[in-house]
Formats: sequence, C-alpha cells, structure tokens
Amino acid sequence: MSFLLPKANGKQLRLGIMGGTFDPIHMGHLVTAEEACQQFNLNNVIFMPSGEPPHKDKRQVTAAEHRYIMTMLAVVANPCFTISRMEIESERTSYTVDTVRRFCDLYGSNLELFFITGADAILDITTWKNYEEILERCSFIATSRPGYSLQKLREVLGSAFAAVMQHIHLLEVPAMAISSTEIRRRVAAGKTIRYLTPRPVEQYIYKNQLYR
Ligand code: ATP
Ligand code: MG
Repeated sequence: MSFLLPKANGKQLRLGIMGGTFDPIHMGHLVTAEEACQQFNLNNVIFMPSGEPPHKDKRQVTAAEHRYIMTMLAVVANPCFTISRMEIESERTSYTVDTVRRFCDLYGSNLELFFITGADAILDITTWKNYEEILERCSFIATSRPGYSLQKLREVLGSAFAAVMQHIHLLEVPAMAISSTEIRRRVAAGKTIRYLTPRPVEQYIYKNQLYR
C-alpha cells in the first residue's frame, strides 16, 4: 500500500475518493472535498488523478506526472487530504469500478467508502462500467456545482433509476464557478488565474509553461 494512504490499524475508516482529471486542480475541487469531509465525517479524502480518463473526449490531457504534482501541491498541507498514484500508474484505462475494487481489497471490512463527484460527473452514472457493483461497494456524495443543480440530478436519476438514488447522498457546497477548462483558457489568453487555484499550482503552471 502507498505510504501516503491512511492506515486502518484495525479501526473502521470512512474514506472519500475525489476522482478527476485535475488538469489543473482548482479551488472548486478543494472546497468540494473539504465540505464532503466535514459533513460526512470522513477520516480522509484521497485525491485520485486519472490516467487515461474514460469519460473525457479526445482533448489532449496534460501528462499525468504534471497533474499529479499539481494536485500534490494543492492538497499536502491539509491533514485530512492525501493523494494516490493508483490510476496514473495503472497500465490500462482505470475505470471507477477498478479503483473501488482495489480499495475494498486493500482495506477489507475496515472501510466505508464514499465517492465524491460533482453533479455534472454523476449524471451519466448508469453508463459507467459495472455501475451496479460500484453502488453496492460504495456510496456517492454528489455535490452541487454552478450550472448543475442537485434538483435536476434528483429529477433525472430519481425518475428513471430510483434504486440508484438510494446510494447517492446529495451535498450542497459553496458555489465556485471555476473549471479547469476555464483556467486553461485563461492561461492561453494571458489572463490572471490568481485565487482560482492555490498559489503553488499557479507558479508550477508558469514554471512549466503549461496551457500556453
Ligand atoms: P474540465 O473543465 O477539464 O472538465 P473540471 O473543472 O470539470 O475540469 P474535473 O477534473 O473534470 O474538473 O472534475 C473532477 C471532479 O470535480 C468532478 O466530479 C467535477 O464534477 C468536480 N468539480 C469540478 N469543478 C467543480 C466546481 N467548481 N465545483 C464543484 N465540483 C467541481
Ligand atoms: Mg470536468
């Protein structure tokens, strides 16, 4: 097991996984994870940068190592946050079900697992590989995100898949109208990104000439 992952030491752990491309990580991700951590009494939130993301279009994603380092820079100072290389080191595309299975194997019965996703990312959950198994093994914390209301999620998923909604907790988080896409656009246009992402991430982007 990675030395960065929390140890169960025989105790029950409530862990959240915050998956994403994190290209780059920004304040919207951090506020969301912090709120989920507090409201659901999680011991830790594990940020999981994706390798080859199955739900992205063919946009060229920045090298995994850059995305990993930026995510690390953003989360290390928070005692409840950590990061995992599990998906970026996987030889093939990691699906959520693979990650969830690996966590269940690692921690066994000491684990209560929560998957944290924005309302946009969870809308198509019924198209995810083995989504029924995922929902059996963990719960979801679906968070609000500007432009994607929890009410809409309730309507869309609740009407078609009432059983699915039983495994999904809805969480309202402070609204942060920030996206990685917008940050990439702003850097390319020479506009400031200060306060949209932590300062060390901003400096890393300029130092490595990302998104130009
Ligand atoms: P991109 O624009 O490249 O898609 P993104 O900002 O959506 O980037 P992702 O890495 O795709 O970031 O998202 C990871 C997770 O964080 C997803 O579950 C997404 O819904 C959630 N998320 C992203 N931005 C926000 C935000 N501003 N507020 C709440 N949740 C967010
Ligand atoms: Mg996204």
